[in-house]
Amino acid sequence: MKRELICISCPIGCHIQAEMTAAGEVEVSGNRCPRGKAYALNELTDPKRMVTSVVACASKELPFVPVRSSAPVSMALIGELLDTLRALEVAPPLASGSVVLSDFKGSGVNIITTRSVKE
Ligand code: SF4
Repeated sequence: MKRELICISCPIGCHIQAEMTAAGEVEVSGNRCPRGKAYALNELTDPKRMVTSVVACASKELPFVPVRSSAPVSMALIGELLDTLRALEVAPPLASGSVVLSDFKGSGVNIITTRSVKE
């Protein structure tokens, strides 16, 4: 099945057509540079997204602290990651950028706070 994609690797936003062949190869057209091919290959084989969420915080100041992934996460892992974050509780003090979950499932992705919580 042919997929229509818009490459998000740079502001040009090339409209890319990508298709997985019966031989398991990805045919790509419409990209102006190799980054577009790499983007399409990832989208067809292991799409990833940045994750933002909140984590419970045992704080007087804030019941939940906002967090984000340090890098895009495989979409196959996002449901499990959100379940893990729902079960997690952290405690202050936390600086912005504190790691609250490291190397999720061996992906190399950390979950980090996006603001500080003093107490
Ligand atoms: S294919 Fe290349 S030029 Fe086109 S949007 Fe992607 S990175 Fe930019």
